[in-house]
Amino acid sequence: MMKDVTTAIDGAEVILIFAGAGMSADSNLTTYRDKEGFYNEYPLYRDLKKNYVSMMSYQGLLENPHFAWGYFAHQYTLYSNAIPHEGYKRLLALCRSKDDYFVVTTNVDGLFKKAGFPSKNLHEVHGSLHNLQCSIPCERKTWATKGLTVEIDYSTMKALDNLPLCPQCGFVSRPNICMYGDTDESYVWEESAKNAKQFRDWKKKNKYKKILIFEVGVGEEGLKRHLSQYRQEFSNETLIRINPDCDEIKDDMQFNLRMGVKDAFIALY
Ligand SMILES: [Zn+2]
Repeated sequence: MMKDVTTAIDGAEVILIFAGAGMSADSNLTTYRDKEGFYNEYPLYRDLKKNYVSMMSYQGLLENPHFAWGYFAHQYTLYSNAIPHEGYKRLLALCRSKDDYFVVTTNVDGLFKKAGFPSKNLHEVHGSLHNLQCSIPCERKTWATKGLTVEIDYSTMKALDNLPLCPQCGFVSRPNICMYGDTDESYVWEESAKNAKQFRDWKKKNKYKKILIFEVGVGEEGLKRHLSQYRQEFSNETLIRINPDCDEIKDDMQFNLRMGVKDAFIALY
C-alpha cells in the first residue's frame, strides 16, 4: 500500500491539508478526546469537577474570568512551549515541492505557523490562542498574545495575577478562539473570515488540478463532514487519512494510514 501512497504523492500537483488535534499529539499536546484530554479527565481539572464546556464558555469567562484565564494561561504555556515535530517539517517540504498548498485546521495551538507555514496558506477555523481580543469586545480587533505571563494557582486552576486587559477600554481580554456560547458579536471573527476567503479563492484556483488531500489527526465529526463536501468540489482528488485510530479501508481514491502523524510523514517524504 505504501507504494500506492507514494505514487499518489508523486503525481499530485497541489496539496490540501485538513488537520485536527492528532496533528500535534507527537509534539506532546494532548488531543481533546483522549482519556486524559481536556474534554475528558484532564488531570488538573479532574478533582475540580469542571467540565470542558465550563472552562471554555463565553458566559463562564464573563462570570469568572480568573477561572477562565487559568485555563487559557495553562493552555497558552503548553502551546507556546511546544515544538512542531518532524512531521510538520516534512509536510512543509512536501508542500513546497508542489505548485500550491493550503492548510485548514481546527487547532488553536499555532504550531503550523511556528513550523513555517505562512498565514496566506492557512485557515485556523477556530482561531488561535496566539491572538487576543477584548471580551466585550469594544473594537473588532485582535493583537498578539506574545509575552503573556499569568500565574496560576494549580489547586483551583484560577489565575492569580491581574488579568490581561484590553489596551483600548481596560476590560478583561480573552483569546481570539471560538468559545461555547460565542456569538458573531462576542467573537472577533474577522481574522478567521479573511482566511476563509483565502481558502475559497484557493479552491477556485485549483479546482481542476490533481489534488492530494491529507486528513490528519481529525477526530471531530464536524470537520470530517466539511471535508467530504470539499472533496465533491474537486474533479481529481485523492485522500490520504493519517490517524492511529482509523480503520484500514482503501479504495482507489482513498488510503488510510493507521499510524502516528510524525512517523507517517517521515515515512512519506
Ligand atoms: Zn476593549
